[in-house]
Amino acid sequence: MRKPVIAGNWKMYKTVGESVQMALALKPLVANASHCEVVIAPVFTALKTVADRLEGSNIKLAAQNCSTEIAEGAHTGEVTTTMLRDVGVSFVIVGHSERRQIYFETDAMVRLKTQSVISAKLTAIVCVGETLAQRDQGIAEKVVSGQLTGGLSGLTASDLDRIIVAYEPVWAIGTGRTATPEQAQEMHAFIRRVFADGHSEKAAQALRILYGGSVKPDNISGLMAQPDIDGALVGGASLEAESFAKIVNYDRKPRKANS
Ligand code: PEP
Repeated sequence: MRKPVIAGNWKMYKTVGESVQMALALKPLVANASHCEVVIAPVFTALKTVADRLEGSNIKLAAQNCSTEIAEGAHTGEVTTTMLRDVGVSFVIVGHSERRQIYFETDAMVRLKTQSVISAKLTAIVCVGETLAQRDQGIAEKVVSGQLTGGLSGLTASDLDRIIVAYEPVWAIGTGRTATPEQAQEMHAFIRRVFADGHSEKAAQALRILYGGSVKPDNISGLMAQPDIDGALVGGASLEAESFAKIVNYDRKPRKANS
């Protein structure tokens, strides 16, 4: 059984004080959520303080990025995965579309970052997804499989235990336009097939694939009812405790069977 993950990406929002306030407000609201892993990703500067304040809770911490370098060294402005682990981080978001588009991250960089996450014994949430133009051209699957092959090549079977894939169609991020549960399911099933072909059926069945793109309290249940959707990466709706808690505590309908 794949345990769902509901992860909140706070992006470049909130001071340390605001982050702590939000984390403490969230804590009791998700305390009984044993059906899923609850993850929040504050900005780097807030990670240590939030980790300390969440000790003993069921909320885990993610970083939003990491260096391509595994070892410490002369790389101004960068942070290694070992340093992230040191402050209490368990997950690292890698290859978010905002980083690919605004900071020109390539699949090769995603691969180095993912390898660094694995080497620090953390879990990478590796983001993939097509733009609207690519979907309209009918090349969404080609784009996503290229990102998976380019970003995740060379991984061993045991490395895969430390990988989560987040399918985030770029046209659905921060736009209020969600992929329908069926559209998301179709791509999630495709991603699982790519892993089955590239690795093994066992690894593909164990892989957790999250959906991201305007997930809200009112659309999470429909998404989570799909057989290949194993959780969500949430941006805007994760910035407020009540709305994120509603997403975590989604109405659990029986999952649809694989077609
Ligand atoms: C994200 O930032 O990963 C995201 C999916 O954002 P939003 O939920 O706001 O679309």
